Amino acid sequence: MVYKKNKCIKKFLYFLVWKSLNIKHNKRIRDYKNNENMIIEKNNSSQSDVEPSDYKKILSQKNFIKDVPNLEAELIKKNIFLTDNEKLDISKVMKNYPMCISKYYISLICRKNDPIWNQCIPKIEEITNIRGKEDPLKEENGIFGLTHRYPDRCLSLISNTCAMYCRFCTRKRKVGEENKIPSEKDFNKMLRYISDHEEIRDIILSGGDPLMLSTKKLEKILKEVRKINHIEIIRIGTRVPCTYPQRIIKDKNLQTILKENSNNPALYINTHFEHPMEITEESKNACEILTNLGIPLGNQSIVLKNVNDNPTTFMELNRKLLAMKVKSYYLYQPDLVKGTFHFICPVSKGLEIVKGLRGYTSGMAVPQFVIDSPGGGGKIPLLPEYTKTLDDGSVKITNYQGKHFEYIIE
Ligand code: SF4
Repeated sequence: MVYKKNKCIKKFLYFLVWKSLNIKHNKRIRDYKNNENMIIEKNNSSQSDVEPSDYKKILSQKNFIKDVPNLEAELIKKNIFLTDNEKLDISKVMKNYPMCISKYYISLICRKNDPIWNQCIPKIEEITNIRGKEDPLKEENGIFGLTHRYPDRCLSLISNTCAMYCRFCTRKRKVGEENKIPSEKDFNKMLRYISDHEEIRDIILSGGDPLMLSTKKLEKILKEVRKINHIEIIRIGTRVPCTYPQRIIKDKNLQTILKENSNNPALYINTHFEHPMEITEESKNACEILTNLGIPLGNQSIVLKNVNDNPTTFMELNRKLLAMKVKSYYLYQPDLVKGTFHFICPVSKGLEIVKGLRGYTSGMAVPQFVIDSPGGGGKIPLLPEYTKTLDDGSVKITNYQGKHFEYIIE
């Protein structure tokens, strides 16, 4: 009897302990859930209460380096020191060609004369090597800012500023020069021309960099272009995802206007990456935002001496681009622009690069190698020697490994 009584007491005590543990456990779960809800609410509220993004802050001059003292200060942070001669050379070059580098892009420099440095820091060769022409492609003819070279498409230069003034730029003659920025009157003239030419179905907005315009101005331009019924495609050429991705990441208004203008006509964006060192978390993020907005991305590069003039660099770059949904589009032989001859490689380099990619990696990572013909003849594709045409219409062909085949039409 006593034994039974003890057993009951024991059971009751077990029950009490179990109950109290259970209460504590449930409380912990409740607390955790409450806490989680609070976090979710907090996150939701931060999403819905996003401050209207201010492009003025994003494009503020303090985010860019435009003079030697500030360049020197920025480089010192990376333990890179400019010599007096280098400072003097940069100042001399800047009298002819301005310098502008986003602090983000400078942060990618690892050492002097690396592929990032060579693209953005002025070198004395820009003014000592005087070969070439200011406008070898004869873009400046007719309406200011408009080039109508091909039957169904035209190029409209709507901006004159960039997040970085690339030292090899084809439009070196005008980037950064305030007095060469197309005015509203110029833009209206461009619009009138395009409206009057119903054969134009594709307009390329370039510059300078269209994404360095104020968000409002870009929205206005897109709206005006979209009013033209025969425009089926709008393309924006921009280096911003590479040289200042924060412009896209931080400006929610910009994202909204790009999304609103991404269909009918279809909006495409062509980026401009030159080296794998430019692929960072930030540049990936900017490209991901654009693709999530429904905008297809392509990439244009230029073969540049001491930057990317070998197949290995392009293999890495183009594979990385493809992994972030950016398809390789064009690989350019540099234009014969005055002040850029120290970047020019023999044409055989470009052919070697394409040959080193074709067959060895996905076709989507192989760009078309082109020369924009001097004098304004347009782009001409160049291919490594893969085919020999026979009289009967058959061909002898060589694959990427150098093996020969025949395609005989019998
Ligand atoms: S971003 Fe484009 S337009 Fe601007 S300087 Fe570079 S290459 Fe030229």
